[in-house]
Amino acid sequence: MRPRLFISGIPLLLMFIFASCGSSENPQSRKMPEKESTMTWSDVERYAREGSPKPDRRVEKTPEQWRAQLTKEQYAVTRMKGTERPYTGEYCESHEPGIYACVCCRTELFDSRVKFESGTGWPSFTEPIKASVISYHADESYGMSRIEVLCNVCDAHLGHVFPDGPGKGGLRFCINSASLVRVDSVRNAVAHD
Ligand code: FE
Repeated sequence: MRPRLFISGIPLLLMFIFASCGSSENPQSRKMPEKESTMTWSDVERYAREGSPKPDRRVEKTPEQWRAQLTKEQYAVTRMKGTERPYTGEYCESHEPGIYACVCCRTELFDSRVKFESGTGWPSFTEPIKASVISYHADESYGMSRIEVLCNVCDAHLGHVFPDGPGKGGLRFCINSASLVRVDSVRNAVAHD
């Protein structure tokens, strides 16, 4: 009887070992993140230094293709890193609800609910819709040390980001109207509710 008891005990022992391995896993590692944490200036500096998050997709076109699709001003700002004159852009003082997308590739970039009146003459936002839609680059042009923001999908120049915003993350995305197109607010409700 004794050897039979010993043999039948082996599967039980193995079960115990596997069960123990299972219970040693950190339950936190299986949790899905509830919401992206608020981006701060140190994240922006890190992205500019080490590289931005990977975009979900890429759109690449020749200068001729962009020129055919965009107005002169949109092309000058987005593809040639231009800047529109302050207080002249379509969305400078607009606070209609909606989503602001990249004028070149229609990637959704900013929600009107995080747009604020900065007094600078350019549309200003506290955060992007998600971190991976924007890429961040050190810009030392014009004797200034700034961080340029581009559409991470098509590399359109959007503007710059500064560490003096009013939101929780303390960021101010200063964006050219010419780089943006406001899209349907219905999609806004679908995407965020
Ligand atoms: Fe784009």
